[in-house]
Amino acid sequence: MRVLVTGGTGLLGSAIRQEVAPDDTFVFVGSKDADLTCWDQTRALFQKERPTHVLHLAARVGGLFANQNNNRQFFVENMSINVNVLEACRQFGVVKVVSCLSTCVFPDGAPLPLDPAHVHAGPPHPSNQGYSYAKRMLEVMSRLYAAETGNPYVCVIPTNMYGPRDNFNLENAHVLPALVHRAHLAAARGEPLRIRGTGQPLRQFLYAPDAARMVLDVLFDTADAAADAAADVVLSNPLEVSVAHVGNLVAKEYGIDAVLDGDPAADGQRSKTSRSADRFRDFAYTPLESGLQKTVEWFRNAYSAGGDVRLHAFTLN
Ligand code: NAP
Repeated sequence: MRVLVTGGTGLLGSAIRQEVAPDDTFVFVGSKDADLTCWDQTRALFQKERPTHVLHLAARVGGLFANQNNNRQFFVENMSINVNVLEACRQFGVVKVVSCLSTCVFPDGAPLPLDPAHVHAGPPHPSNQGYSYAKRMLEVMSRLYAAETGNPYVCVIPTNMYGPRDNFNLENAHVLPALVHRAHLAAARGEPLRIRGTGQPLRQFLYAPDAARMVLDVLFDTADAAADAAADVVLSNPLEVSVAHVGNLVAKEYGIDAVLDGDPAADGQRSKTSRSADRFRDFAYTPLESGLQKTVEWFRNAYSAGGDVRLHAFTLN
């Protein structure tokens, strides 16, 4: 077994790296190893690594504001990456592919809790339609490639993930890492943490090391071979909390107060309640407080070391 992990340098990829033995079974690649928007580089990567299995995590990912302002680029980059990776999996005879969608892909106003059967049942929220439609096409491609090859092309659908090595960039991070970074700066200035929006939207947060264990469970599952070759598996966390609650927890980590600006325009969807697939009924989730503590601790160390924190701005074509 040789598993190629695309997006292996990202939040989820690096959490998976911590979970597996450091032998030759898994190879983790980032955009410096191959730009997966380019077919020649994708093909050369598969030629070199010859994977039997692929965890396809690579994507252009960003928070609400980055998506809102770059819908075309999110669509084009993610479509290119997904078309190239799945086609390479087919051409190189990969026997199992696990790709990553997101709960963002569901239609705006879909019945809750979100059900994979409704992924295509209406337009996604306009704020992230580029990313969402590209992810939906990844779901469609997975079914087509599974039908043609007879191999499992499974899609996992995670809710918001967070943890060490997240993207903490202030302009394009997801809500939780953005709050951590802003609380860090606010605490240094002796100010409260200012939170954009009403704080009322409800979200679930899955600690990336938990998501990593779930993805590996799906990868190593052999029961999905023929019957359910293109299953969609939701990865969530049973705890649903308001953005205000998360903001308060983050602020508490830094010993400061949290203040909401109350602007509903910054809110996004009201709630996107999801439930993990039944197979994770007995999963031992990391409590939000301890996942957050570990994330803040990692961020503090990385920030003061000045090295490994992803504070980069996007470079979009
Ligand atoms: P991330 O931290 O932003 O990492 C993205 C990864 O994709 C990095 O390894 C990056 O490589 C790679 N990548 C981006 N563009 C690439 C390109 N053109 N060629 C090759 N590699 C490229 O992402 P993540 O948060 O771990 O997300 C993993 C997966 O879960 C994604 O498919 C995402 O859509 C999905 N997801 C994420 C969340 C979340 O809350 N984060 C929620 C739901 C679903 P470099 O860093 O080396 O450039």
